[in-house]
Amino acid sequence: MKLKPRHLAWPALLLAAAMMPASTDLSAQGASKMHATGTAPAAAATPKAKPKAKAKAGKKVVKKKAKAAKTGPPPTPAKVLFGAAKAPAPLAARAIGFYAKGCLAGAKAIAVDGPTWQVMRLSRNRMWGHPSLISLVERLAKDGKANDGWNGLLVGDISQPRGGPMLTGHASHQIGLDADIWLTPMPDQKLSNREREDLSATSMLAADRVSINPEVWTQAHGRIITRAASYAQVERVLVHPAIKKAICEDKSLPRDHLNKIRPYWGHHYHMHIRMACPKDSPACTPQPIVGNEDGCGKEVNDWIERMKRIYAPRPPRPEPPVALPKPKPKPKPPEITLADLPAECKMVIGDTSPPGPSPVADVTQPDAAKSAATKPDDEAENAEPAASAKAGSKK
Ligand SMILES: [Zn+2]
Repeated sequence: MKLKPRHLAWPALLLAAAMMPASTDLSAQGASKMHATGTAPAAAATPKAKPKAKAKAGKKVVKKKAKAAKTGPPPTPAKVLFGAAKAPAPLAARAIGFYAKGCLAGAKAIAVDGPTWQVMRLSRNRMWGHPSLISLVERLAKDGKANDGWNGLLVGDISQPRGGPMLTGHASHQIGLDADIWLTPMPDQKLSNREREDLSATSMLAADRVSINPEVWTQAHGRIITRAASYAQVERVLVHPAIKKAICEDKSLPRDHLNKIRPYWGHHYHMHIRMACPKDSPACTPQPIVGNEDGCGKEVNDWIERMKRIYAPRPPRPEPPVALPKPKPKPKPPEITLADLPAECKMVIGDTSPPGPSPVADVTQPDAAKSAATKPDDEAENAEPAASAKAGSKK
């Protein structure tokens, strides 16, 4: 602290005194100010810390303001940036980062109509993936039709043109290696764009929500899911525990890749195929490989018991005599920003080259686009690996 000469300190002191409320002990204040000028013995300076603290707090405010001026408003959430990208990044194809925290360069769109598939929900523009995943989906569609009695695939969400977090739905599907395939077989006729928006997928569950509905579940369902798991590049196929159990119990199905068919929340109207990191993507973060256990015993049974407890009907609760205070809403986890994603994603999203032709150019009716933005995504996909980096091995 710089010492002020006494004659300069006095006018300041008088001014300060004039500004103090009447009840303030002026003599004490004045004394301490005098000490603060450095003329009094240290022993008498009990309140010395106060002005120092004040000065410190002042400095803090100034620093905070300066910081705010420097950093500006909070960064735009990455889902806004990636959700706005209409075309892929014109770079070599590669998956960057983790399934639930990353992006995708050089994405390829699956054809909206293939010989043995049709893409649903075109307005979402989520038919983009790593080229290896697109080939894999096409292969599954062809193999399923040829061998499994599966008429063709209805393809749900894959990824956005540049991957990344989405404005609605999925926590994963960010690096172009996840694909949702409906458990409704493709109809013979070509669906209209409107039907692709409005048609609902069929749930495989009975009313109890923990067992399969034999009215809708067929052996062909088991075959197409098992086939997806049989491909070497596929690391996981996520399905509802009731579906996993039905597959375990169908002895006519091949049992070699049951370990890759993983029980998970939701996934009763679609299967979620997850590919391993491709060789061309060194910045892709792999998930732990699933073990060799088929998961047909304790694992799937534990899942089902857990779900039974959750969905068991409960007796109605008596009205509490006094209105209880509402519990405070949990604070939302912070939004993923570009800074949270792998550094390469800046390049993926920052590219400003003119967008290429979009395969959905013919379906951008304003209402369709709006419904895609506001329609809540298919339930439990939302709960997907937000915690995946940690809990990934369980999936
Ligand atoms: Zn999915």
